[in-house]
Amino acid sequence: MNTEAKLEGSFAQSPYAGRSAQMFPHLTPVQIARLSAHGRKSVIQKGEVLAEPGDRLPMYVVLSGSIEIVQPTLTGETLIVVHTAGSFSGDVGTLRGISAVVRMRVREGGEVLSIDEAHLRTIFQTDAELSELFMRAFILRRAALISTQSSDVVLLGSTHSAGTLRLQQFLTRNTYPFVNLDVDSDASVRELLDRFQVKVEDIPVVVCRGSVVLKNPSNEEVASCLGMNQQIDDDRVRDVIVVGAGPAGLAAGVYGASEGLDVLVLETGTPGGQAGSSSKIENYLGFPTGISGLALAARALIQAQKFGAEIRTAYSALHLNCEQRPYAIEFANGHAVRTRTVIIATGAEYRQLALENASRFLGTGMYYAATATEARRCGTAEVVVVGGGNSAGQAAVYLAATCKRVNLLVRGNGLADTMSQYLIRRIADTPNIILRTRTEITSLEGQDQLARVTWKTAPGNAPETHDIGHVFLMTGALPCTGWLNSCIAVNEKGFVRTGSDLRSEDLPPSKWTNSRQPGFFETSIPGIFAVGDVRCGSVKRVAAAVGEGSACIQQVHRVLHE
Ligand SMILES: Cc1cc2nc3c(=O)[nH]c(=O)nc-3n(C[C@H](O)[C@H](O)[C@H](O)COP(=O)(O)OP(=O)(O)OC[C@H]3O[C@@H](n4cnc5c(N)ncnc54)[C@H](O)[C@@H]3O)c2cc1C
Repeated sequence: MNTEAKLEGSFAQSPYAGRSAQMFPHLTPVQIARLSAHGRKSVIQKGEVLAEPGDRLPMYVVLSGSIEIVQPTLTGETLIVVHTAGSFSGDVGTLRGISAVVRMRVREGGEVLSIDEAHLRTIFQTDAELSELFMRAFILRRAALISTQSSDVVLLGSTHSAGTLRLQQFLTRNTYPFVNLDVDSDASVRELLDRFQVKVEDIPVVVCRGSVVLKNPSNEEVASCLGMNQQIDDDRVRDVIVVGAGPAGLAAGVYGASEGLDVLVLETGTPGGQAGSSSKIENYLGFPTGISGLALAARALIQAQKFGAEIRTAYSALHLNCEQRPYAIEFANGHAVRTRTVIIATGAEYRQLALENASRFLGTGMYYAATATEARRCGTAEVVVVGGGNSAGQAAVYLAATCKRVNLLVRGNGLADTMSQYLIRRIADTPNIILRTRTEITSLEGQDQLARVTWKTAPGNAPETHDIGHVFLMTGALPCTGWLNSCIAVNEKGFVRTGSDLRSEDLPPSKWTNSRQPGFFETSIPGIFAVGDVRCGSVKRVAAAVGEGSACIQQVHRVLHE
Protein backbone atom coordinates (compact mmCIF):
# COMPACT_ATOMS: atom_id res chain seq x y z
CA MET A 1 0.00 0.00 0.00
CA ASN A 2 3.00 2.27 0.55
CA THR A 3 3.13 3.75 -2.95
CA GLU A 4 4.27 7.34 -3.21
CA ALA A 5 1.63 9.88 -4.19
CA LYS A 6 1.83 11.22 -7.73
CA LEU A 7 2.12 15.00 -7.66
CA GLU A 8 0.76 16.94 -10.59
CA GLY A 9 0.90 20.45 -12.07
CA SER A 10 2.59 23.25 -10.16
CA PHE A 11 2.85 21.02 -7.06
CA ALA A 12 5.29 18.74 -8.89
CA GLN A 13 7.59 21.76 -9.42
CA SER A 14 7.27 23.00 -5.83
CA PRO A 15 10.45 22.93 -3.70
CA TYR A 16 8.54 20.55 -1.44
CA ALA A 17 7.94 17.97 -4.17
CA GLY A 18 10.88 15.86 -2.92
CA ARG A 19 9.02 15.39 0.34
CA SER A 20 5.91 13.88 -1.22
CA ALA A 21 6.24 10.71 0.87
CA GLN A 22 5.84 12.78 4.05
CA MET A 23 3.28 15.08 2.49
CA PHE A 24 1.07 12.27 1.22
CA PRO A 25 1.81 9.19 3.34
CA HIS A 26 -0.29 6.04 3.11
CA LEU A 27 -1.80 4.70 6.31
CA THR A 28 -1.27 1.07 7.27
CA PRO A 29 -4.30 -1.23 7.83
CA VAL A 30 -3.55 -1.10 11.58
CA GLN A 31 -3.60 2.71 11.59
CA ILE A 32 -6.84 2.75 9.58
CA ALA A 33 -8.40 0.32 12.06
CA ARG A 34 -7.48 2.71 14.91
CA LEU A 35 -9.05 5.62 13.02
CA SER A 36 -12.29 3.72 12.36
CA ALA A 37 -13.45 4.32 15.93
CA HIS A 38 -13.37 8.10 15.29
CA GLY A 39 -15.08 8.30 11.93
CA ARG A 40 -18.12 7.46 9.82
CA LYS A 41 -17.95 5.38 6.66
CA SER A 42 -19.73 6.57 3.54
CA VAL A 43 -19.94 5.72 -0.14
CA ILE A 44 -18.56 8.20 -2.68
CA GLN A 45 -19.67 8.43 -6.30
CA LYS A 46 -17.49 9.19 -9.31
CA GLY A 47 -17.62 12.94 -10.15
CA GLU A 48 -19.07 13.92 -6.76
CA VAL A 49 -17.58 17.19 -5.44
CA LEU A 50 -16.84 16.66 -1.76
CA ALA A 51 -15.71 20.23 -1.15
CA GLU A 52 -15.24 23.58 -2.87
CA PRO A 53 -12.82 26.23 -1.62
CA GLY A 54 -14.62 28.03 1.20
CA ASP A 55 -16.41 24.90 2.50
CA ARG A 56 -15.75 23.55 5.98
CA LEU A 57 -15.12 19.84 5.71
CA PRO A 58 -14.00 16.77 7.63
CA MET A 59 -10.83 14.80 6.94
CA TYR A 60 -11.43 11.93 4.52
CA VAL A 61 -9.47 8.67 4.70
CA VAL A 62 -9.83 6.86 1.37
CA LEU A 63 -10.78 3.21 1.93
CA SER A 64 -11.39 2.41 -1.74
CA GLY A 65 -11.68 4.42 -4.97
CA SER A 66 -9.87 7.76 -5.27
CA ILE A 67 -10.28 11.50 -4.66
CA GLU A 68 -8.55 14.22 -6.68
CA ILE A 69 -7.43 17.46 -5.09
CA VAL A 70 -7.41 20.41 -7.47
CA GLN A 71 -6.42 24.02 -7.06
CA PRO A 72 -8.94 26.34 -8.75
CA THR A 73 -7.36 29.32 -10.52
CA LEU A 74 -8.77 32.24 -12.51
CA THR A 75 -8.26 30.28 -15.71
CA GLY A 76 -9.38 26.81 -14.68
CA GLU A 77 -7.94 24.34 -12.24
CA THR A 78 -4.66 22.55 -11.57
CA LEU A 79 -4.58 18.95 -10.42
CA ILE A 80 -2.40 18.64 -7.31
CA VAL A 81 -2.66 15.04 -6.17
CA VAL A 82 -4.88 11.98 -6.34
CA HIS A 83 -5.59 10.31 -3.00
CA THR A 84 -5.92 6.55 -3.39
CA ALA A 85 -6.80 3.85 -0.82
CA GLY A 86 -4.88 4.45 2.43
CA SER A 87 -4.33 8.14 1.74
CA PHE A 88 -6.12 11.00 3.54
CA SER A 89 -7.24 14.55 2.75
CA GLY A 90 -6.70 17.76 4.72
CA ASP A 91 -4.20 20.45 5.63
CA VAL A 92 -3.73 22.88 8.53
CA GLY A 93 -7.14 24.43 7.85
CA THR A 94 -8.86 21.09 8.54
CA LEU A 95 -7.50 21.06 12.08
CA ARG A 96 -8.53 24.69 12.57
CA GLY A 97 -12.05 23.89 11.37
CA ILE A 98 -11.86 26.66 8.78
CA SER A 99 -12.66 26.77 5.09
CA ALA A 100 -10.90 24.59 2.54
CA VAL A 101 -8.60 26.26 -0.01
CA VAL A 102 -8.84 23.51 -2.65
CA ARG A 103 -11.53 21.59 -4.53
CA MET A 104 -11.99 17.90 -3.71
CA ARG A 105 -13.64 15.65 -6.29
CA VAL A 106 -14.20 11.89 -6.47
CA ARG A 107 -12.21 10.37 -9.35
CA GLU A 108 -13.24 6.72 -8.84
CA GLY A 109 -16.21 5.74 -6.71
CA GLY A 110 -15.56 3.85 -3.50
CA GLU A 111 -15.73 4.32 0.26
CA VAL A 112 -14.27 6.92 2.67
CA LEU A 113 -14.00 7.31 6.41
CA SER A 114 -14.90 10.90 7.37
CA ILE A 115 -13.48 12.27 10.61
CA ASP A 116 -14.87 15.57 11.86
CA GLU A 117 -12.87 18.36 13.52
CA ALA A 118 -13.67 17.31 17.10
CA HIS A 119 -12.68 13.68 16.53
CA LEU A 120 -9.59 14.75 14.62
CA ARG A 121 -8.53 16.83 17.62
CA THR A 122 -9.07 13.82 19.90
CA ILE A 123 -6.75 11.79 17.66
CA PHE A 124 -4.14 14.56 17.80
CA GLN A 125 -4.30 14.56 21.57
CA THR A 126 -4.34 10.82 22.17
CA ASP A 127 -2.50 9.05 19.34
CA ALA A 128 1.12 10.23 19.24
CA GLU A 129 2.03 8.28 16.11
CA LEU A 130 -0.87 9.49 13.98
CA SER A 131 -0.67 13.00 15.42
CA GLU A 132 2.92 13.35 14.20
CA LEU A 133 2.14 11.82 10.80
CA PHE A 134 -0.90 14.09 10.22
CA MET A 135 0.76 17.21 11.59
CA ARG A 136 3.81 16.85 9.33
CA ALA A 137 1.64 16.14 6.28
CA PHE A 138 -0.72 19.08 6.98
CA ILE A 139 2.09 21.59 7.46
CA LEU A 140 4.00 20.45 4.37
CA ARG A 141 0.88 20.45 2.21
CA ARG A 142 0.07 24.07 3.09
CA ALA A 143 3.68 25.17 2.62
CA ALA A 144 3.81 23.46 -0.79
CA LEU A 145 0.49 24.98 -1.82
CA ILE A 146 1.78 28.46 -0.97
CA SER A 147 5.01 27.86 -2.85
CA THR A 148 3.11 27.12 -6.08
CA GLN A 149 1.75 30.70 -6.08
CA SER A 150 -1.39 29.51 -7.79
CA SER A 151 -4.79 30.19 -6.31
CA ASP A 152 -8.25 31.58 -7.06
CA VAL A 153 -7.52 34.33 -4.54
CA VAL A 154 -5.76 37.17 -6.33
CA LEU A 155 -4.35 40.37 -4.92
CA LEU A 156 -4.15 43.09 -7.57
CA GLY A 157 -1.89 45.75 -6.12
CA SER A 158 1.02 48.08 -6.50
CA THR A 159 4.36 48.43 -4.76
CA HIS A 160 3.42 52.11 -4.33
CA SER A 161 0.36 51.33 -2.24
CA ALA A 162 0.44 50.87 1.53
CA GLY A 163 -2.86 48.95 1.39
CA THR A 164 -1.22 46.38 -0.89
CA LEU A 165 1.56 45.78 1.63
CA ARG A 166 -0.99 45.42 4.46
CA LEU A 167 -2.95 42.79 2.52
CA GLN A 168 0.21 40.95 1.42
CA GLN A 169 1.26 40.78 5.07
CA PHE A 170 -2.19 39.68 6.20
CA LEU A 171 -2.48 36.84 3.68
CA THR A 172 1.15 35.73 4.04
CA ARG A 173 1.10 35.71 7.83
CA ASN A 174 -2.15 33.76 7.81
CA THR A 175 -0.42 31.22 5.52
CA TYR A 176 -3.11 31.75 2.90
CA PRO A 177 -2.23 30.82 -0.72
CA PHE A 178 -2.77 33.76 -3.07
CA VAL A 179 -1.55 35.14 -6.38
CA ASN A 180 0.12 38.53 -6.11
CA LEU A 181 -0.09 40.68 -9.26
CA ASP A 182 1.51 44.12 -9.55
CA VAL A 183 -0.20 46.71 -11.74
CA ASP A 184 3.13 48.49 -12.33
CA SER A 185 5.03 45.53 -13.69
CA ASP A 186 2.49 42.96 -14.89
CA ALA A 187 0.56 43.75 -18.07
CA SER A 188 -2.02 41.03 -17.35
CA VAL A 189 -3.31 43.04 -14.39
CA ARG A 190 -4.99 45.58 -16.71
CA GLU A 191 -6.88 42.73 -18.35
CA LEU A 192 -8.03 41.47 -14.97
CA LEU A 193 -9.07 44.94 -13.88
CA ASP A 194 -11.26 45.16 -17.01
CA ARG A 195 -12.60 41.65 -16.48
CA PHE A 196 -13.66 42.43 -12.90
CA GLN A 197 -14.73 46.00 -13.79
CA VAL A 198 -12.44 47.77 -11.37
CA LYS A 199 -10.26 50.85 -11.93
CA VAL A 200 -6.60 51.37 -11.08
CA GLU A 201 -7.74 53.85 -8.38
CA ASP A 202 -9.56 50.96 -6.61
CA ILE A 203 -6.26 49.18 -5.95
CA PRO A 204 -5.59 47.16 -3.86
CA VAL A 205 -8.25 44.73 -5.00
CA VAL A 206 -8.73 41.21 -3.71
CA VAL A 207 -10.51 38.74 -5.99
CA CYS A 208 -11.86 36.21 -3.58
CA ARG A 209 -12.56 32.68 -4.86
CA GLY A 210 -12.31 33.88 -8.43
CA SER A 211 -15.55 35.84 -8.27
CA VAL A 212 -16.13 38.21 -5.32
CA VAL A 213 -14.27 41.49 -5.87
CA LEU A 214 -13.23 43.43 -2.77
CA LYS A 215 -11.91 46.98 -3.32
CA ASN A 216 -9.31 48.09 -0.79
CA PRO A 217 -10.84 45.71 1.78
CA SER A 218 -10.09 45.68 5.50
CA ASN A 219 -8.39 42.60 6.93
CA GLU A 220 -11.74 41.68 8.52
CA GLU A 221 -13.51 41.74 5.13
CA VAL A 222 -10.86 39.50 3.58
CA ALA A 223 -10.98 37.09 6.54
CA SER A 224 -14.74 36.87 6.27
CA CYS A 225 -14.75 36.39 2.47
CA LEU A 226 -12.17 33.59 2.70
CA GLY A 227 -13.85 31.89 5.66
CA MET A 228 -10.77 32.25 7.86
CA ASN A 229 -12.86 32.34 11.02
CA GLN A 230 -15.65 30.23 12.42
CA GLN A 231 -18.58 32.05 14.02
CA ILE A 232 -17.94 32.83 17.71
CA ASP A 233 -20.40 31.16 20.07
CA ASP A 234 -21.23 34.16 22.29
CA ASP A 235 -23.63 32.26 24.59
CA ARG A 236 -20.79 30.35 26.20
CA VAL A 237 -18.87 31.69 29.21
CA ARG A 238 -15.19 30.80 28.60
CA ASP A 239 -12.65 29.83 31.23
CA VAL A 240 -10.19 32.29 29.75
CA ILE A 241 -10.08 34.71 26.85
CA VAL A 242 -6.60 35.62 25.68
CA VAL A 243 -6.46 38.94 23.83
CA GLY A 244 -3.53 39.08 21.40
CA ALA A 245 -1.89 36.19 19.55
CA GLY A 246 1.75 37.23 19.74
CA PRO A 247 4.22 34.86 21.40
CA ALA A 248 2.72 35.54 24.85
CA GLY A 249 -0.89 34.99 23.79
CA LEU A 250 -0.12 31.90 21.71
CA ALA A 251 1.82 30.38 24.62
CA ALA A 252 -1.16 31.05 26.93
CA GLY A 253 -3.39 29.40 24.30
CA VAL A 254 -1.17 26.29 24.07
CA TYR A 255 -0.80 25.85 27.84
CA GLY A 256 -4.40 26.74 28.68
CA ALA A 257 -5.91 24.38 26.10
CA SER A 258 -3.44 21.58 26.84
CA GLU A 259 -4.48 21.78 30.48
CA GLY A 260 -8.14 21.38 29.64
CA LEU A 261 -9.32 24.99 29.82
CA ASP A 262 -11.92 26.40 27.45
CA VAL A 263 -9.72 29.01 25.72
CA LEU A 264 -10.57 31.63 23.11
CA VAL A 265 -7.70 33.66 21.61
CA LEU A 266 -8.56 36.92 19.81
CA GLU A 267 -6.14 38.57 17.41
CA THR A 268 -6.71 41.90 15.71
CA GLY A 269 -4.24 41.24 12.88
CA THR A 270 -2.42 37.98 12.32
CA PRO A 271 -0.97 35.50 14.81
CA GLY A 272 2.67 36.10 15.68
CA GLY A 273 2.53 39.71 16.81
CA GLN A 274 5.80 41.63 16.58
CA ALA A 275 7.71 38.38 16.36
CA GLY A 276 5.82 37.62 13.13
CA SER A 277 7.59 40.58 11.53
CA SER A 278 11.08 39.38 12.47
CA SER A 279 13.01 37.86 9.56
CA LYS A 280 15.11 35.67 11.83
CA ILE A 281 15.00 35.12 15.58
CA GLU A 282 18.35 33.72 16.61
CA ASN A 283 18.16 33.81 20.40
CA TYR A 284 15.10 31.61 20.90
CA LEU A 285 16.01 28.43 22.75
CA GLY A 286 16.18 25.30 20.64
CA PHE A 287 16.72 26.92 17.22
CA PRO A 288 20.50 27.17 16.83
CA THR A 289 20.28 28.28 13.20
CA GLY A 290 17.48 30.74 13.96
CA ILE A 291 13.81 30.68 12.98
CA SER A 292 11.72 33.30 11.21
CA GLY A 293 9.00 34.87 13.34
CA LEU A 294 6.47 33.73 10.77
CA ALA A 295 7.50 30.07 11.03
CA LEU A 296 7.53 30.22 14.84
CA ALA A 297 4.06 31.77 14.88
CA ALA A 298 2.67 29.26 12.35
CA ARG A 299 3.91 26.35 14.48
CA ALA A 300 2.57 27.87 17.70
CA LEU A 301 -0.79 28.53 16.07
CA ILE A 302 -1.26 24.95 14.95
CA GLN A 303 0.01 23.69 18.31
CA ALA A 304 -2.60 25.77 20.16
CA GLN A 305 -5.30 24.46 17.83
CA LYS A 306 -4.13 20.89 18.22
CA PHE A 307 -4.94 21.20 21.93
CA GLY A 308 -8.33 22.74 21.20
CA ALA A 309 -7.77 26.48 21.67
CA GLU A 310 -10.16 28.50 19.51
CA ILE A 311 -8.35 31.24 17.63
CA ARG A 312 -9.92 34.11 15.69
CA THR A 313 -7.82 36.34 13.47
CA ALA A 314 -8.83 39.83 12.29
CA TYR A 315 -10.94 40.04 15.46
CA SER A 316 -10.27 43.15 17.56
CA ALA A 317 -11.19 43.45 21.22
CA LEU A 318 -12.75 46.91 21.33
CA HIS A 319 -13.70 47.24 25.02
CA LEU A 320 -13.10 45.34 28.21
CA ASN A 321 -16.03 45.46 30.59
CA CYS A 322 -14.58 44.66 34.00
CA GLU A 323 -17.44 46.04 36.08
CA GLN A 324 -19.03 42.66 36.65
CA ARG A 325 -18.13 38.98 36.49
CA PRO A 326 -18.09 37.11 34.22
CA TYR A 327 -16.11 39.77 32.38
CA ALA A 328 -17.16 40.80 28.89
CA ILE A 329 -15.09 41.70 25.84
CA GLU A 330 -16.88 43.69 23.18
CA PHE A 331 -16.21 43.72 19.42
CA ALA A 332 -16.71 46.41 16.79
CA ASN A 333 -19.77 44.52 15.43
CA GLY A 334 -21.56 45.04 18.75
CA HIS A 335 -21.23 41.41 19.87
CA ALA A 336 -19.57 40.47 23.15
CA VAL A 337 -18.03 37.32 24.62
CA ARG A 338 -18.03 36.50 28.33
CA THR A 339 -15.31 34.90 30.36
CA ARG A 340 -14.29 34.03 33.90
CA THR A 341 -10.73 35.24 33.39
CA VAL A 342 -8.87 37.38 30.85
CA ILE A 343 -5.25 37.37 29.75
CA ILE A 344 -4.14 40.68 28.25
CA ALA A 345 -1.41 39.86 25.72
CA THR A 346 -1.81 42.78 23.34
CA GLY A 347 1.87 43.68 23.20
CA ALA A 348 3.05 46.94 21.78
CA GLU A 349 3.11 48.95 18.55
CA TYR A 350 5.98 50.78 16.94
CA ARG A 351 6.76 54.42 17.48
CA GLN A 352 6.55 56.65 14.43
CA LEU A 353 9.00 59.35 13.40
CA ALA A 354 8.04 62.76 14.80
CA LEU A 355 7.62 64.19 11.30
CA GLU A 356 4.38 65.60 9.98
CA ASN A 357 4.30 63.54 6.80
CA ALA A 358 5.78 60.31 8.23
CA SER A 359 2.54 58.35 8.32
CA ARG A 360 1.95 59.16 4.61
CA PHE A 361 4.82 56.87 3.64
CA LEU A 362 3.82 53.90 5.80
CA GLY A 363 4.01 50.93 3.48
CA THR A 364 5.20 53.08 0.56
CA GLY A 365 8.79 53.40 1.64
CA MET A 366 8.55 53.27 5.42
CA TYR A 367 8.24 49.92 7.17
CA TYR A 368 8.10 48.49 10.69
CA ALA A 369 9.22 45.03 9.70
CA ALA A 370 12.07 43.63 7.66
CA THR A 371 10.93 40.31 6.24
CA ALA A 372 11.07 38.86 2.73
CA THR A 373 7.91 40.81 1.80
CA GLU A 374 9.51 44.20 2.51
CA ALA A 375 12.96 43.16 1.25
CA ARG A 376 11.44 42.30 -2.15
CA ARG A 377 10.17 45.88 -2.41
CA CYS A 378 13.68 47.26 -1.89
CA GLY A 379 15.41 45.02 -4.40
CA THR A 380 19.08 46.01 -4.38
CA ALA A 381 18.44 49.68 -3.49
CA GLU A 382 20.16 51.58 -0.68
CA VAL A 383 18.07 51.65 2.51
CA VAL A 384 17.94 53.24 5.97
CA VAL A 385 17.33 51.36 9.22
CA VAL A 386 16.55 53.54 12.25
CA GLY A 387 17.14 52.28 15.79
CA GLY A 388 19.78 50.85 18.10
CA GLY A 389 18.01 47.76 19.48
CA ASN A 390 18.18 44.12 18.45
CA SER A 391 15.34 44.45 15.97
CA ALA A 392 17.24 47.23 14.15
CA GLY A 393 20.42 45.13 14.17
CA GLN A 394 18.64 42.11 12.73
CA ALA A 395 16.96 44.20 10.06
CA ALA A 396 20.29 45.77 9.03
CA VAL A 397 22.04 42.40 8.77
CA TYR A 398 19.13 40.86 6.89
CA LEU A 399 18.80 43.70 4.39
CA ALA A 400 22.55 43.91 3.84
CA ALA A 401 22.37 40.53 2.10
CA THR A 402 20.39 42.02 -0.81
CA CYS A 403 20.65 45.81 -0.60
CA LYS A 404 23.54 47.85 -1.99
CA ARG A 405 24.05 49.73 1.26
CA VAL A 406 22.29 49.83 4.64
CA ASN A 407 22.58 53.06 6.65
CA LEU A 408 21.97 52.24 10.32
CA LEU A 409 20.93 55.48 12.06
CA VAL A 410 21.08 55.72 15.87
CA ARG A 411 20.54 58.71 18.11
CA GLY A 412 23.06 57.57 20.76
CA ASN A 413 26.82 57.33 20.68
CA GLY A 414 26.87 53.65 19.81
CA LEU A 415 25.13 50.30 20.09
CA ALA A 416 26.77 48.79 23.16
CA ASP A 417 24.01 49.74 25.63
CA THR A 418 21.09 48.67 23.47
CA MET A 419 22.07 45.78 21.20
CA SER A 420 23.29 42.21 21.77
CA GLN A 421 27.03 41.70 21.28
CA TYR A 422 26.58 39.06 18.57
CA LEU A 423 24.68 41.54 16.40
CA ILE A 424 27.16 44.36 17.05
CA ARG A 425 29.94 42.04 15.86
CA ARG A 426 28.00 41.00 12.79
CA ILE A 427 27.30 44.63 11.86
CA ALA A 428 31.00 45.48 12.24
CA ASP A 429 31.84 42.55 9.96
CA THR A 430 29.37 43.54 7.23
CA PRO A 431 31.02 46.09 4.97
CA ASN A 432 27.82 47.43 3.37
CA ILE A 433 26.26 48.40 6.73
CA ILE A 434 27.25 51.97 7.59
CA LEU A 435 26.63 52.79 11.26
CA ARG A 436 25.78 56.49 11.69
CA THR A 437 25.69 57.43 15.38
CA ARG A 438 24.15 60.64 16.83
CA THR A 439 22.07 60.87 13.66
CA GLU A 440 18.38 61.69 13.21
CA ILE A 441 16.06 61.87 10.20
CA THR A 442 14.78 65.42 9.73
CA SER A 443 12.69 65.16 6.58
CA LEU A 444 11.10 62.75 4.15
CA GLU A 445 10.13 63.64 0.61
CA GLY A 446 8.33 61.95 -2.23
CA GLN A 447 5.04 61.85 -4.12
CA ASP A 448 3.27 58.48 -3.93
CA GLN A 449 6.45 56.77 -2.83
CA LEU A 450 9.19 57.92 -0.49
CA ALA A 451 12.06 59.20 -2.66
CA ARG A 452 14.46 61.25 -0.50
CA VAL A 453 15.59 61.18 3.11
CA THR A 454 17.43 63.96 4.95
CA TRP A 455 19.34 63.33 8.17
CA LYS A 456 21.52 65.38 10.49
CA THR A 457 24.54 64.12 12.37
CA ALA A 458 25.85 65.79 15.55
CA PRO A 459 28.06 67.69 16.15
CA GLY A 460 27.71 70.17 13.37
CA ASN A 461 24.27 68.94 12.31
CA ALA A 462 24.77 69.68 8.64
CA PRO A 463 21.78 68.15 6.82
CA GLU A 464 22.50 65.52 4.18
CA THR A 465 19.86 64.54 1.63
CA HIS A 466 20.02 61.14 -0.06
CA ASP A 467 17.94 59.56 -2.82
CA ILE A 468 16.73 56.72 -0.63
CA GLY A 469 13.23 55.32 -0.94
CA HIS A 470 13.12 52.76 1.87
CA VAL A 471 13.28 53.45 5.61
CA PHE A 472 12.90 50.74 8.24
CA LEU A 473 11.76 52.11 11.61
CA MET A 474 12.90 49.94 14.49
CA THR A 475 12.58 52.50 17.26
CA GLY A 476 10.61 50.89 20.04
CA ALA A 477 6.97 50.53 20.79
CA LEU A 478 3.95 51.80 22.73
CA PRO A 479 1.66 49.38 24.65
CA CYS A 480 -1.67 48.42 23.03
CA THR A 481 -3.94 49.23 25.95
CA GLY A 482 -6.56 51.55 24.40
CA TRP A 483 -9.20 48.79 24.53
CA LEU A 484 -8.88 48.35 28.32
CA ASN A 485 -11.40 51.09 28.85
CA SER A 486 -9.36 52.62 31.71
CA CYS A 487 -10.49 49.93 34.11
CA ILE A 488 -7.01 48.45 34.63
CA ALA A 489 -4.10 50.21 36.39
CA VAL A 490 -1.24 51.14 34.02
CA ASN A 491 2.09 52.93 34.59
CA GLU A 492 3.03 56.39 33.31
CA LYS A 493 3.88 54.94 29.88
CA GLY A 494 0.66 52.96 29.63
CA PHE A 495 2.13 49.49 30.38
CA VAL A 496 -0.14 47.31 32.55
CA ARG A 497 0.86 47.01 36.21
CA THR A 498 0.74 43.53 37.70
CA GLY A 499 1.66 41.83 41.01
CA SER A 500 4.17 43.75 43.08
CA ASP A 501 4.16 46.69 40.62
CA LEU A 502 0.63 47.54 41.75
CA ARG A 503 0.46 50.40 44.26
CA SER A 504 -2.08 50.56 47.09
CA GLU A 505 -4.00 53.29 45.22
CA ASP A 506 -4.37 50.85 42.30
CA LEU A 507 -6.25 48.41 44.56
CA PRO A 508 -9.17 50.24 46.22
CA PRO A 509 -11.52 47.80 48.06
CA SER A 510 -14.26 48.66 45.56
CA LYS A 511 -12.15 47.10 42.76
CA TRP A 512 -9.85 44.61 44.49
CA THR A 513 -12.43 42.50 46.27
CA ASN A 514 -10.20 39.57 47.31
CA SER A 515 -8.50 39.07 50.67
CA ARG A 516 -5.35 37.78 48.91
CA GLN A 517 -2.77 39.95 47.14
CA PRO A 518 -2.68 39.99 43.29
CA GLY A 519 -0.67 37.15 41.71
CA PHE A 520 2.56 37.87 39.79
CA PHE A 521 0.76 38.37 36.45
CA GLU A 522 -2.53 39.61 37.92
CA THR A 523 -3.65 43.19 37.25
CA SER A 524 -5.60 45.53 39.54
CA ILE A 525 -8.77 43.53 38.79
CA PRO A 526 -9.02 39.94 40.15
CA GLY A 527 -8.85 37.28 37.43
CA ILE A 528 -7.53 39.68 34.77
CA PHE A 529 -3.86 39.02 33.92
CA ALA A 530 -1.27 40.68 31.69
CA VAL A 531 1.69 38.97 30.03
CA GLY A 532 4.43 39.81 27.55
CA ASP A 533 5.40 43.20 26.17
CA VAL A 534 2.21 44.93 27.35
CA ARG A 535 3.12 44.20 30.99
CA CYS A 536 5.09 46.79 32.88
CA GLY A 537 8.55 45.50 33.77
CA SER A 538 8.51 42.57 31.32
CA VAL A 539 11.62 41.67 29.32
CA LYS A 540 10.77 42.58 25.75
CA ARG A 541 11.86 39.31 24.15
CA VAL A 542 10.12 36.34 22.50
CA ALA A 543 11.31 33.81 25.10
CA ALA A 544 10.20 36.04 27.98
CA ALA A 545 6.77 36.55 26.40
CA VAL A 546 6.38 32.81 25.82
CA GLY A 547 7.44 32.09 29.41
CA GLU A 548 4.97 34.60 30.83
CA GLY A 549 2.07 33.36 28.71
CA SER A 550 2.73 29.77 29.79
CA ALA A 551 3.33 30.47 33.48
CA CYS A 552 0.25 32.67 33.78
CA ILE A 553 -2.03 29.68 33.17
CA GLN A 554 -1.18 28.33 36.63
CA GLN A 555 -2.57 31.54 38.15
CA VAL A 556 -5.66 31.28 35.93
CA HIS A 557 -6.32 27.80 37.38
CA ARG A 558 -6.07 29.21 40.90
CA VAL A 559 -8.60 31.96 40.20
CA LEU A 560 -10.99 29.53 38.52
CA HIS A 561 -10.95 27.46 41.73
CA GLU A 562 -11.60 30.41 44.06
C1 LIG B 1 11.26 43.25 13.94
C2 LIG B 1 11.37 42.65 15.32
C3 LIG B 1 12.33 41.69 15.58
C4 LIG B 1 12.43 41.11 16.85
N1 LIG B 1 13.36 40.15 17.07
C5 LIG B 1 13.45 39.55 18.27
C6 LIG B 1 14.40 38.52 18.50
O1 LIG B 1 15.17 38.16 17.62
N2 LIG B 1 14.44 37.91 19.70
C7 LIG B 1 13.61 38.27 20.71
O2 LIG B 1 13.68 37.65 21.75
N3 LIG B 1 12.69 39.27 20.54
C8 LIG B 1 12.59 39.92 19.35
N4 LIG B 1 11.69 40.92 19.15
C9 LIG B 1 10.79 41.29 20.27
C10 LIG B 1 9.64 40.29 20.37
O3 LIG B 1 9.08 40.09 19.09
C11 LIG B 1 8.58 40.79 21.33
O4 LIG B 1 9.16 40.95 22.59
C12 LIG B 1 7.44 39.77 21.44
O5 LIG B 1 6.82 39.60 20.18
C13 LIG B 1 6.39 40.22 22.44
O6 LIG B 1 5.35 39.30 22.41
P1 LIG B 1 3.87 39.67 22.94
O7 LIG B 1 3.04 38.49 22.65
O8 LIG B 1 3.95 40.15 24.32
O9 LIG B 1 3.39 40.92 22.09
P2 LIG B 1 3.27 41.15 20.52
O10 LIG B 1 4.26 40.35 19.80
O11 LIG B 1 3.29 42.64 20.36
O12 LIG B 1 1.82 40.59 20.17
C14 LIG B 1 0.64 41.24 20.59
C15 LIG B 1 -0.51 40.86 19.68
O13 LIG B 1 -1.73 41.42 20.17
C16 LIG B 1 -2.51 41.88 19.09
N5 LIG B 1 -3.45 42.91 19.57
C17 LIG B 1 -3.18 44.18 19.96
N6 LIG B 1 -4.31 44.81 20.33
C18 LIG B 1 -5.33 43.92 20.17
C19 LIG B 1 -6.75 43.99 20.39
N7 LIG B 1 -7.35 45.09 20.86
N8 LIG B 1 -7.50 42.88 20.10
C20 LIG B 1 -6.91 41.72 19.63
N9 LIG B 1 -5.57 41.64 19.42
C21 LIG B 1 -4.79 42.71 19.68
C22 LIG B 1 -1.48 42.43 18.13
O14 LIG B 1 -1.99 42.50 16.79
C23 LIG B 1 -0.34 41.42 18.27
O15 LIG B 1 -0.45 40.37 17.33
C24 LIG B 1 11.56 41.53 17.89
C25 LIG B 1 10.59 42.51 17.63
C26 LIG B 1 10.50 43.06 16.36
C27 LIG B 1 9.46 44.08 16.09
